[in-house]
Amino acid sequence: MIGWLRTCNYWPKCATEKVKPLNTKHVDQFKRIIQRLEKVKELAGLDDKAFALLSEPQKVLEVNIPVKMDDGTMKIFKGYRAQFNDARGPFKGGIRFHPAVTYDEVKTLSAWMTFKTAAVNLPLGGSKGGVVVDPKELSDRELEALSRRYAQAIHKLIGPEVDVPAPDVATDPRIMAWMMDEYEKIVGRHQPGVITGKPLSIGGSAARSYSTAQGGAFVLDEAAKKIGLHKGATVAIEGFGNAGSHMALILQKMGYKITAVSDSRGTAVNCMGLDVQGLIEHKEQTGSVRNYVGGEKFVGSHCFEQDTDILIPAALENSITQENAEIIKAKLIVELANGPITPEADEILLQKGKMIVPDILANAGGVMVSYFEQVQNAYGYYWTEHEVLAKLEGGMRKSFEEIWAVKEKYQTDLRTAAYILATERIVQAMRDRGWI
Ligand code: GLU
Repeated sequence: MIGWLRTCNYWPKCATEKVKPLNTKHVDQFKRIIQRLEKVKELAGLDDKAFALLSEPQKVLEVNIPVKMDDGTMKIFKGYRAQFNDARGPFKGGIRFHPAVTYDEVKTLSAWMTFKTAAVNLPLGGSKGGVVVDPKELSDRELEALSRRYAQAIHKLIGPEVDVPAPDVATDPRIMAWMMDEYEKIVGRHQPGVITGKPLSIGGSAARSYSTAQGGAFVLDEAAKKIGLHKGATVAIEGFGNAGSHMALILQKMGYKITAVSDSRGTAVNCMGLDVQGLIEHKEQTGSVRNYVGGEKFVGSHCFEQDTDILIPAALENSITQENAEIIKAKLIVELANGPITPEADEILLQKGKMIVPDILANAGGVMVSYFEQVQNAYGYYWTEHEVLAKLEGGMRKSFEEIWAVKEKYQTDLRTAAYILATERIVQAMRDRGWI
C-alpha cells in the first residue's frame, strides 16, 4: 500500500481546508470574440461586412424583475436575454442564475453559442440569458416566482421558431418546466419546443440531463487517440456540478482513471482512482468534495497542479489564467465549461504543447441534445435513450474530425480551427440570406 503511495507525486500532502474562489474578477469578455474573429480573418479570410455583423449581437433585452419575497418585501432582480445571430436558424442558448451575471457576460456567451451551434453544424443560431441572483439564497417559492417572472419578461422574444432557452449555470429541468408553463399560459397553447432541458414528463429528451458530459467524453476520446493516450489515462476535473460529476462517471465507465476532483470548496485526490459514485454521494451529503474519506490527504485549492494526463475544467469562465496556467501538467485539456481559459493562459498552454479541445466543441453535446429535443417536440414523437446517444455520438465524433481537418489544413490549434469552420458556416448563411 505504502509502496504505491510513495510513487504518487502528490504524496504526502495533508488535509484540505483552504478554499480559493473561482476567478470572477471582471475581464472584458467580449474582446475575446473580436480576437477570435481577427485570428480567423488572418488565417482564413473574413470580409469586413461579416466581421462587422459578427462583432455585435442582433438584440439584447435587459429586464428588471420584481419578486415578492417570503418575508413580505419586494426585491428587483436584473435579467438579460442576448440574441447574437440567427442566420443559421432560431436563436439557441441557456439561461444562467448567478450573482456574477453581467450584460457583457451574457452578450459574450450568446456569441459563443452562435459559434458553438455552427461548429457542430446544428441548424441554429446563438443566444444566452441570465439573471443576477444567487439561487441558493432563495426559497423554492421565491425561485419559482423569479423563474416565472423572467419567462414573462422575455416571452415576446422567445418561441420554438424564434429563440429557444435551456438550462445553464444553476438552472435545471424544474426551472425550465416553470418557464415553459408560464409561456404556455401566455400563448394559450402547448409549446414544448419553446425551451429545452425540460423534465421527461413534459417533453424533455432522454439523455439531455447528462448530454454535455457525454458529448465531452466522445470528443475527449477522439482527442486522446490523436495524442496516443490510452484508456487508463488519468483525469482531473475542476468543478463537480452537473457536467463535472456526469463526466467523471462516464469517463470512469469508459476506462479512464479519475484521480482528482475539485469544487469551489476543496479537492479530493486519489492516485489509484477515486470512487466517483462514493464522491457524488459525499457531495450530496456535505455540499462539497472536500474531506472525502476515499481520497488522500491533500493541501491545495484546486486540481490544476495535479499530475494527470487530462484536465477537464468544468466550472465557470476564467478559472485558468496566466497566474495558474504554468502549473498545469496535463497534456490534454477539455473545456467542459464555457470559456474556462483566458486568452493569455491559452497562449501559455499552447506554447507548452498542450492540446486544448475548445468549449465550443467540447461542451456542445448539451445543445446538440437540446436540438434533438426540439426535433422530438416538433414531431410529438420521442426517441429512446439509445437512439439519442447514437445520434449524439455520431454528431460529436464527426464534428471533432471536421474540426481536426481544418486544424491540419491551416496548421493551427483546435480552437482556431473550430472558429474558422463555424465562422465559414455562419458567413455562408448570412451571404445566402443576402445580409452581406
Ligand atoms: N447551456 C448550455 C450551453 O452553454 C446548453 C444550451 C442549450 O442547450 O441551448 O451550451
